[in-house]
Amino acid sequence: MGNIANYQPAKLEKEIIDFWEKNDIFRKSVEKRKGSKPFVFLEGPPTANGTPHPGHVLTRIMKDVVLRYYTMKGFYVPRRAGWDTHGLPVEIEVEKKLGLKTKQDIEKYGIEKFNQECRKSTFRYENEWIEMTRRVGFWIDMDNPYITLENDYIESVWWSLKQLWEKGYLYKGYKVVPYCPRCGTALSAHEVAQGYKSVTEPSIFVKFKLKDENAYFLAWTTTPWTLLSNVALAVHPDEPYLKIKYRGEILILAEERVARLFKGEEYEILDRFMGKELEGKEYEPLFTYERPEKKAWYVICADFVTMDEGTGIVHIAPAFGEEDYEAGREYDLPVVQLVKKNGTFDEKVEPWKGMFVKDADPLIIKHLEERGLIFAVQDYTHDYPFCWRCDTPLLYYAMESWFIAVSKFRKQLVENNETVEWYPDHIKHGRFGDFISEAKDWALSRNRYWGTPLPIWRCKKCGNEICVGSVEELKKLSKEFPEKYDLHKPFVDDLEVMCPNCNSRMEREPYVID
Ligand SMILES: [Zn+2]
Ligand SMILES: [Zn+2]
Repeated sequence: MGNIANYQPAKLEKEIIDFWEKNDIFRKSVEKRKGSKPFVFLEGPPTANGTPHPGHVLTRIMKDVVLRYYTMKGFYVPRRAGWDTHGLPVEIEVEKKLGLKTKQDIEKYGIEKFNQECRKSTFRYENEWIEMTRRVGFWIDMDNPYITLENDYIESVWWSLKQLWEKGYLYKGYKVVPYCPRCGTALSAHEVAQGYKSVTEPSIFVKFKLKDENAYFLAWTTTPWTLLSNVALAVHPDEPYLKIKYRGEILILAEERVARLFKGEEYEILDRFMGKELEGKEYEPLFTYERPEKKAWYVICADFVTMDEGTGIVHIAPAFGEEDYEAGREYDLPVVQLVKKNGTFDEKVEPWKGMFVKDADPLIIKHLEERGLIFAVQDYTHDYPFCWRCDTPLLYYAMESWFIAVSKFRKQLVENNETVEWYPDHIKHGRFGDFISEAKDWALSRNRYWGTPLPIWRCKKCGNEICVGSVEELKKLSKEFPEKYDLHKPFVDDLEVMCPNCNSRMEREPYVID
């Protein structure tokens, strides 16, 4: 102790850290309480392929305060550091370094070599992390960290997934997901929330000609490229619609929207009916690049149709919208998918094949204008999600994905949250409470390379599916299993895993997990 004028916190902190280290205080503080009631702490591991920033300092200190507090209360608090070494941030760093731009580039380069590069890059900033952790005085065992790329860690994830599998909580679905065509992966709601930007783009009022009448349904869309996959038009069953004559054309749209869109214009009302009376009415398709087997191109009813914007008639493309997909399931509509996973139109779309769908928007508008099917084009400013990693506009896309059925145990999550003491307490029923009470099924599969491989094998011949929960189990199923191995791709995919039912070779679901 001395004069406050001589107080030099940085110098003092260094002296204290030196004292701790010289006298092995951290280890002693843990060992001394061995046998007491344990306080269990699982470190959510940071990624060491980037440098630590002040936000990391904050979270490390918060953890440290809690752990020291429980130690001082007499609990036994072993704490082990961890390093998160997997995932897209690592892949993206390596892609940049190697000048690879697409997934095809990665596959040409070789998955094995690519993953070796990922492995190398993960500890690039380990020293910076260790030094920061030491300097802020966060007591955690950094000599024996758990590392997510190690076989035994991957095996523990497999074990957890198998627990879910056996309870029926792991399933493969086809769901419309926000999808980055550049990264080639679906994004979680949390990731999507990070990338909204305000954009102004053309929205169009499109005319769909009724099949048996010289009149048009007027629909509105902000994504002209999805019109190629249109299979239905949705109206609200309990809202009134009008048939009007405007400049010699006969149009059908919601009464409430007529009042807004044709304000000050001259038009004649020819008829008025409720939305549900339109159900089943057929119209001529705008595009026929695909002629689906299932019945399409007719009016359906949906409660999600609002009178807030547009025309009260919503164009439905189940391949590209969550609500569209649900409505499509209800009416058994076809899913017309003309867009490839890289976000470009496929071969069937003769004029725009190979073109990124959003780049095709102006051309599609021009094409429809030439056919006299555009009623109006309006600039529309709205928040649109972009990929937080690479800034590509996201597409909503119906694709295969594996899910954890969080919605099945949501109730339990909410109940357990009630037993948690939160600081500050408004989080409990606020941000966190809201989050879990609306928790959706978690799409955990990623169509990528560097991560824990999804341990599900499928037999093409008999349809048998196996979720492997350990290396031992995988050994038993495999024809040959080497002494030395690395559970990442491509090793797991090269194994000859045989179906116990019919003895043919099984194939792994090709994903890694988030
Ligand atoms: Zn992306
Ligand atoms: Zn089989």
